[in-house]
Amino acid sequence: MENCIFCKIINKEIPGDIVYEDEKVLAFKDINPQAPIHIIVIPKKHVKSVLEADGEMSAAIINAIQKIAKEQNIEETGFRVITNCGKDAGQTVEHLHFHILAGRTLGEKIV
Ligand code: 5GP
Ligand code: ZN
Repeated sequence: MENCIFCKIINKEIPGDIVYEDEKVLAFKDINPQAPIHIIVIPKKHVKSVLEADGEMSAAIINAIQKIAKEQNIEETGFRVITNCGKDAGQTVEHLHFHILAGRTLGEKIV
């Protein structure tokens, strides 16, 4: 989709520090990391949020998250997965994305 920063990363129009890629999913390091490991996982098809994700897309993303956790060696230590949806959640990029946060003890609360 035009003017979508994450679509531009998918299309290699702007650089992304890519850590994982398959047919349906791309993952790259967050430009403004909130933890030692902060990875953004996105579907290659542009949808706005979880509200528009179908089962196939959701399964592909979960499958990618499992592989990334293994590759990043955070299966044992643990990690947090977050997706913001809409205004009140503070979603700033309107292309569905999941944050993987890890690499230190995270705060107890999400809010
Ligand atoms: P949101 O607040 O929408 O859940 O998260 C958007 C995330 O995308 C933020 O953590 C922000 O740092 C990250 N981000 C925004 N623009 C870029 C970019 O151009 N490249 C990368 N790698 N991350 C970005
Ligand atoms: Zn997009």
